Amino acid sequence: MESASQRLREVNDRIDRAARLAGRTGESVSLIAVSKHQEPAAIQALIDAGHRDFGENRIQEAQAKWGGESGLRAACPDVRLHFVGRLQSNKAKDAVALFDEIHSVDRLSLVTALGVAMRDSGQRRDCFIQVNIGEEAQKGGCAIDALPGLLQEARDTGLPIAGLMAVPPADREPAPYFALLARLARLHDVAGLSIGMSGDYETAVMIGATHVRVGTALFGPRRVG
Ligand SMILES: *Cc1c(COP(=O)(O)O)cnc(C)c1O
Repeated sequence: MESASQRLREVNDRIDRAARLAGRTGESVSLIAVSKHQEPAAIQALIDAGHRDFGENRIQEAQAKWGGESGLRAACPDVRLHFVGRLQSNKAKDAVALFDEIHSVDRLSLVTALGVAMRDSGQRRDCFIQVNIGEEAQKGGCAIDALPGLLQEARDTGLPIAGLMAVPPADREPAPYFALLARLARLHDVAGLSIGMSGDYETAVMIGATHVRVGTALFGPRRVG
């Protein structure tokens, strides 16, 4: 079996190649290792290999693994944690306390709660507005029509807007959805694009991803939880 550092090198090489094909450099893309449902030892192996950006999708699981005096973060204070899951407004304070970037801001109540949490804590956290790009009933993300209003509210609230995020429909060719999100980002003057997972991150990079969220291609199948 390949080691964590070999898989990390391979994914970084692929990002590099895709970026160069698009006239960019690999450094213009942040690789987020999505460590949800992974054992601390597997995460530690990537930290030991020099990786620093990690993604989680549940507050409680993330607090248990990363938080506290015995957590992974205490051992490596320069990790950057990215929240990529559905966020309840009553967890906004916990999210702001633990995470450096929040990729799943998708409704007004959450914008308001994050604004309060950032103001009260004095912490500013980069936010991505998640768009339900395939208009799927079960998915998180704001409706495409709701994006301009939500972005305006987020800007008025003073949230630092880093970009747009989306997860395209699982059973479809992702490129057209990535391209649509890229067009929305240009239209609304938003710099970042959080798109691309294990199966499609090279495509995402070619279309302009600034952040790719890769789990199983780095860690293998998810284990716990
Ligand atoms: C789990 C998850 C990922 C990573 O998925 P893989 O297919 O394992 O790479 C990326 N983004 C979000 C929002 C996720 O929930």
